Amino acid sequence: RRADLVRQARLPSVTLDGTPVTLQANIELDADLNALRRAGPTGVGLYRTEFLYLNRSTPPDEGEQLKAYRRALRALGGEALTVRTYDLGGDKLPDAEARETQGSPNPALGLRAIRLSLREPGLFATQIRAILRASALGPIRLMLPMLTDISELDQCLALIEEQRSQLRKAGRRFDPGMPIGAMIEVPAAALTAAAFARRLDFLSIGTNDLTQYTLAIDRTDETVNHLYDPLHPAVLQLIRLTLKGAARARKPVAMCGEMAGDPRYTRLLLGMGLREFSVPVNRLAEIRHVIRRTDVRKLATPVRKLLAAGERAVRDRLLETLNQDLE
Ligand code: PEP
Ligand code: MG
Repeated sequence: RRADLVRQARLPSVTLDGTPVTLQANIELDADLNALRRAGPTGVGLYRTEFLYLNRSTPPDEGEQLKAYRRALRALGGEALTVRTYDLGGDKLPDAEARETQGSPNPALGLRAIRLSLREPGLFATQIRAILRASALGPIRLMLPMLTDISELDQCLALIEEQRSQLRKAGRRFDPGMPIGAMIEVPAAALTAAAFARRLDFLSIGTNDLTQYTLAIDRTDETVNHLYDPLHPAVLQLIRLTLKGAARARKPVAMCGEMAGDPRYTRLLLGMGLREFSVPVNRLAEIRHVIRRTDVRKLATPVRKLLAAGERAVRDRLLETLNQDLE
């Protein structure tokens, strides 16, 4: 049974008609690295680094972060590690930052993720240096969270360039070609995805926040949880636009939100043209299984119908039909 699982984890994630699909993992803690080692050779499409900053009084310094990234690289054995710069604020606050954002009337719309990073360039620069230095040790990609406006991206790119020149002066090694990408998780960014893609090496769709911000539903508020629906036509449209924008700029685009790790949505996403999934480690096997049992050529018609369905009940039924041969 165990040998069986190991064997399956090594099967390629390719569809029945031979379309290769990139399947990567989301990680947060060192414990995920052990699970990842057991799961077989897999790259990481999202490393949520904010967890390095939580439950402590001072942020991790450059050396401590470098060590954490090195540990992750070692566990990956040559596969790519996508390090997302800290997404703090909102519902995730370290003690120091809690003070500044305390009393924010609407944390999800407030000083969060890249906004906090640009407000505290010193804190941000420390992380960028650690990520750059880790890029000398293995295949690292840097990913920026929650961009809304191109000017934020330009500020980030300038900051990264500045840290590169400082490291050069200090004689520190780093990979000058380290890919830089961004999450598309705000409707404004999805609508202008091509402009982001042109300046970047890759995009990754964060459906958790994209759904929250498109539907104006706080993802942490249980009283409106029943309205949270990544299949809402508006969310699907924004995903489609992001795929289109990336294609126009000839840049790869992944999805790393929970939607990518939900096997009910795998075929829909493949039918929409998604070819890169980053999913929680414990979902890798299931998603690979669905990919390997899908013929992309048969998806066009049912997916078109699904995208056109306005009513939730109709969508749910169409989704069931799409998945009916999967047990
Ligand atoms: C997302 O928003 O979909 C995402 C992957 O980022 P996080 O869940 O960490 O906000
Ligand atoms: Mg997010």
